[in-house]
This record gives sequence, C-alpha cells and structure tokens, in this order.
Amino acid sequence: MILELIKADITTIKADAIVNAANSSLLGGGGVDGAIHRKGGKEILKACIEIRNKQGKCKTGNAVITTAGNLPARYVIHTVGPVWNGESEKNNALLADCYRNSLALAIENGIKVIAFPNISTGIYHFPKNNAADIAIATVNNFAEKEKIEKVIFVCFDDENYELYLQKLNK
Ligand code: ADP
Repeated sequence: MILELIKADITTIKADAIVNAANSSLLGGGGVDGAIHRKGGKEILKACIEIRNKQGKCKTGNAVITTAGNLPARYVIHTVGPVWNGESEKNNALLADCYRNSLALAIENGIKVIAFPNISTGIYHFPKNNAADIAIATVNNFAEKEKIEKVIFVCFDDENYELYLQKLNK
C-alpha cells in the first residue's frame, strides 16, 4: 500500500472512493459533508436515504457506501467520526474504527485507491495532531493493507497538511 499526501478539496479527487466525514443522520451537513453532497448531486442523498430506511442512523465509527453521483470518484464511503468530548481513549478508538471500517468496506467493494479527509478535525473538534497520528497508524496497521493499492490523505487546511507532511516524512 502506498500512502500519498495532498492538499486539496476532496471532491476533486479521482479515486475509486473518497471518504466523507458524515454525521449519523447521513443526510448531509457542513464542512466536507456539505461539499460532497453539493458537488455530487442528489443521487448521493437518495442513496443515503435508502440506507437510512434500511438500517437507521449510522453509528459513530461505522461506514456505509454509496455512489459518488457527479463526482470524479466512483464511490463515496460515509463514516461517522466521534465528536471530541475530551474522553480521549473512547474518542481515539472510535476514530480508528472510522479508518478501519472504511478500509474494510473499500476492500469488500473492490476499491484499490481511496482518499480520506481528516475525519473529525473540523466541526467535531478532534485535536488535529492526535487525529493525524491515529489516521496514519490505523492505515499502516490495517490487517489487509496489501489489498489496497493507494491511500491518499487529503488535507484541506494548512495545519493538517503540515502535520501530515511531518509525520509521513519521518
Ligand atoms: P467533522 O464534522 O468530522 O469534524 P468537517 O467536515 O467539519 O468534519 O471537517 C473534517 C475535515 O475536513 C477538516 O480538517 C476540514 O478542514 C476538512 N474539509 C472541509 N472541507 C473539505 C473539502 N472540501 N475537502 C477535503 N477536506 C475538507
């Protein structure tokens, strides 16, 4: 598995799948979620509503997959990050679940190239340094990592980009 870092808007990435930092309603929100639904069009929301009708809300740490609508990617994997509340052990474990469950779902769907945003580090206020460590370690330690060709960490803000640059070049 190759790890790549880029500073970009994830809606522009042509990967097999891009990951959305969704909320448990799966009905869209702000930040990266808003951008994905806005640019991807109503096909994504329609697919999310179908999933909700079947399974209800998406639990924190879990992931579901839909079409990417009008986006250049093929699929969107929606995962629900934890809202940072200071309970670091619990929050850390849930954030790692997001990366692990997204990768597992990717493999189930034959996805080889997957792009992740910095889950939970926006509106959900997860400390960025800590979140970057968890993201990189979880991807690196993923049991079936040889089944994924490339993971792209897509940073949007300068602070996350600088953190990932340092950590990935160590
Ligand atoms: P959360 O609710 O999980 O914190 P946010 O969307 O608020 O989700 O933020 C998660 C991360 O996504 C933040 O680091 C933010 O800078 C980043 N982000 C916001 N918009 C985009 C985008 N269009 N592409 C990639 N990353 C984005």
